[in-house]
Amino acid sequence: MIRCIKTEFRTTKENLNRLFACNRISAEIWNECLTHARNYAHQHEGKWISQSQLQSELKGQFPLHSQSVQAVCHKYLFSRDSAQQARKQGLNPKYPYKKKSHFNTKWVDKAFQIEGNTLQLSLGVWKGKRQQAIWITVPRLPAAEIKEIELVFDRKLMISMSYEDGKVAVENVGKQLVGVDLGEIHSLAATTTENKSIIITGRKLRSVHRLRNKKLAEIQRLMSKCKKGSRQWKRYNRAHKYILSKSERQMNDAIHKTTRQFVQWCTENEAKEVVIGQVEGVQRNTKKKRRKVVNQKLSNWSFGKIQKQIRYKFEAYGTRVKTIDESYTSQQCPCCGRRNKTSTRNYRCWCGYKEHRDVHGSKGILSKHLYGEIRHLGETQEIKYLRIA
Ligand SMILES: [Zn+2]
Repeated sequence: MIRCIKTEFRTTKENLNRLFACNRISAEIWNECLTHARNYAHQHEGKWISQSQLQSELKGQFPLHSQSVQAVCHKYLFSRDSAQQARKQGLNPKYPYKKKSHFNTKWVDKAFQIEGNTLQLSLGVWKGKRQQAIWITVPRLPAAEIKEIELVFDRKLMISMSYEDGKVAVENVGKQLVGVDLGEIHSLAATTTENKSIIITGRKLRSVHRLRNKKLAEIQRLMSKCKKGSRQWKRYNRAHKYILSKSERQMNDAIHKTTRQFVQWCTENEAKEVVIGQVEGVQRNTKKKRRKVVNQKLSNWSFGKIQKQIRYKFEAYGTRVKTIDESYTSQQCPCCGRRNKTSTRNYRCWCGYKEHRDVHGSKGILSKHLYGEIRHLGETQEIKYLRIA
């Protein structure tokens, strides 16, 4: 299976500067893609530039490995084509148009070499001369066949590698379906078709998020008092970014722990398929939205993250992951169909039905998936409680 890892590296000051330059050049290539595509459309009655045409326009124009140039070109074409696909489905995304000043550089195939923990990143031939390669040392190098290396920026330059781990997804012989409710109070609740349930709550996630919001609000208040772009303002801006990235790392860590526990429980309970309740609007978590991350509710953010990680981790077990619309699954009583709102830990209905709120939610999702409606699935056999510190 192809897996991905983002990690730190070491190199000389000079090479680090050259790596920054690589990402600036990649941005130039991206901007050139935009220009060529626009010009081509002008000259050819609105027709789109083809991959081969675009590649020939870019060939030999930049001091990067030819495959690194192609990688930018592919990304451009990919985002153009996905925008077209989305439009066909009735959505209204923009075609790529924005100029960039930094863009991740990619090394694939023959563009890099590995010796021990050292990576040699080739810059190819420029004006008839082979350029000096860039050497970096990666302490955490996966012991597997690395397919791609991407230079990414996350407060500092890091590399993201995708590699083949040599494992084959095991055949899933499980029989259970599992309904998953990702709760408002940042917990995960799930129930199998055998009526076994798990509740994982994340106090850590909530406290990190709360502290982060508090700090960010304070910095924003201070920033509003400074002149934009001034030295003090820049200082605050750096602190702002630092808090964002630190809290994101901590929350990611908590989510990893949650999903790991959940996946383990699912394997113990022989899950064949997992169905996650999808809150409307969460799926459309675009890049633009991410930038407004400050004011975003944690729930939106973590829903997307948790889902992504569950999918990723289940791949190795051959477990299917589906999402369904979760409307009313938490409100409707499975016995009499009445809709009740709960503010306590337990869901109660006037008809006598009673269930832990989150377990109730996960059962609703399971039932909706199985029968297309909310039915009573029987008594809960056991509830396992886990708390992520
Ligand atoms: Zn009822």
